[in-house]
Amino acid sequence: MEDKRRSYLREIPAVNDLLAEDLGQELIAEYGHQLLVEEIRSLLGRLRKKILDASLAELEAKLIDLRKSKILKEVREELRVQKSSKLMPVINATGVVIHTNLGRSLLSQSAQVALEQVSKNYSTLEVDRVSGERGSRYEVVEGILKELTGAEAALVVNNNAAAVLLILSTLAKDKEVIISRGQLVEIGGSFRIPAVMEQSGAELKEVGCTNKVHLTDYQEAIREETALILKVHTSNYKVVGFTKEASLKELVNLAHHYDLPVIEDLGSGSLVDLRPWGLSYEPTVQESIAAGVDILSFSGDKLLGGPQAGIIVGKKKYIDQMKEHQLNRALRVDKFTLAALEATLAEYRNLAGVQQRIPTLKMLTISLEELKAKAEDLLLLLRNQLSSDFKVELRRGNSQVGGGAYPTERLETYVIDLSSEKYSVQDLAQSLRLNNPPIFTRIYQDALIFDLRTIQEEDFEQIAKAFEEILREE
Ligand SMILES: *Cc1c(COP(=O)(O)O)cnc(C)c1O
Repeated sequence: MEDKRRSYLREIPAVNDLLAEDLGQELIAEYGHQLLVEEIRSLLGRLRKKILDASLAELEAKLIDLRKSKILKEVREELRVQKSSKLMPVINATGVVIHTNLGRSLLSQSAQVALEQVSKNYSTLEVDRVSGERGSRYEVVEGILKELTGAEAALVVNNNAAAVLLILSTLAKDKEVIISRGQLVEIGGSFRIPAVMEQSGAELKEVGCTNKVHLTDYQEAIREETALILKVHTSNYKVVGFTKEASLKELVNLAHHYDLPVIEDLGSGSLVDLRPWGLSYEPTVQESIAAGVDILSFSGDKLLGGPQAGIIVGKKKYIDQMKEHQLNRALRVDKFTLAALEATLAEYRNLAGVQQRIPTLKMLTISLEELKAKAEDLLLLLRNQLSSDFKVELRRGNSQVGGGAYPTERLETYVIDLSSEKYSVQDLAQSLRLNNPPIFTRIYQDALIFDLRTIQEEDFEQIAKAFEEILREE
């Protein structure tokens, strides 16, 4: 066996031989001799290690490809990835609409224009046009947020995590916050209600059981040290079965009886009821305000479909305190966020057709017929492109809302399953990710899945071209 290994190792081409190849010369011209040599050495090192770690079966099957052309193509791929921007546009074929790792919401046309305008020009960020005096950047969106939500006041910070931190730091430092045990939420690993609570200096006072909490549980926990009652929307999970939660209205009545505020972290925070498009009921921001909540926070880039932001709305006396808090200065948003957010919010002034203008809502409410028509177009394109080595099929499937919204909702969709006897799906998925533009798919049961919900028509050609490249490289 060790003989086999040694002779296999000897087959690894020399750096100079690789450089002498046509492709080697091309790469020298494009990236320079030094960088190319470094990259080749590093890849050869990895190949050597693979051979050293290989089992007898792997050695015999010669699974590690040492052809010069193959090695140089891999080096070229790595150099391309290195040279391109780290943050680049991608094609989202996963079907997850609010995909946090791929940047959550796409912006509306109007928000794109607003961003461009504010990036090219000076702007009225902090100036009062009437007096010419210094103004406040909060005023940019405060008016429209009040108008849309019915709240007395509003404030915007960097994201919803920052919003919750600012709210608790301002209203509950060194005091107790009452929260239901069923609502100690963790979002994406880095946001955990107990940790945010600790950071703010507030003391957590859990009440009830995981599945059931009664109003009397809250009532019994209220004492001198209590600062507020916190309700957190369990956006990324659902407690089902033998369950009970106190309603927002009940909490408001109870808290106000003791002169305490109720705070709600709504998470996704939608301004429109999406039930007419077949999604299940989620409380809207306006409903919570109408129910008397004192302060409410939600994300700008989840169901709202705008830029990353943490939006705080509610009673003026509390919001005024937050505006004054030192932490607010550290969490403040920039002009790009404000520009994109104002334009996004302006779309909600006219609810008719808003789900067409906000990309996140559009992808969530697109009809099954439309998805099918799109899927058939892409299917045709792929069938024409791909040889008989591939199986390409259209079928019904499910997509996800994402962003920790509607955790149990399975949106009906059409997907294209792509599989091959000749290529592993893992390799194909990686090649697609390394394509320019990168394409992100789902893998399910040995098939690559293209979910039409998040694929734009303009992406079709790019997907076909990506396969053309991948197959040419082989
Ligand atoms: C998403 C979410 C957050 C965090 O919001 P970011 O805008 O990502 O900081 C906080 N609370 C809940 C309930 C959420 O769903």
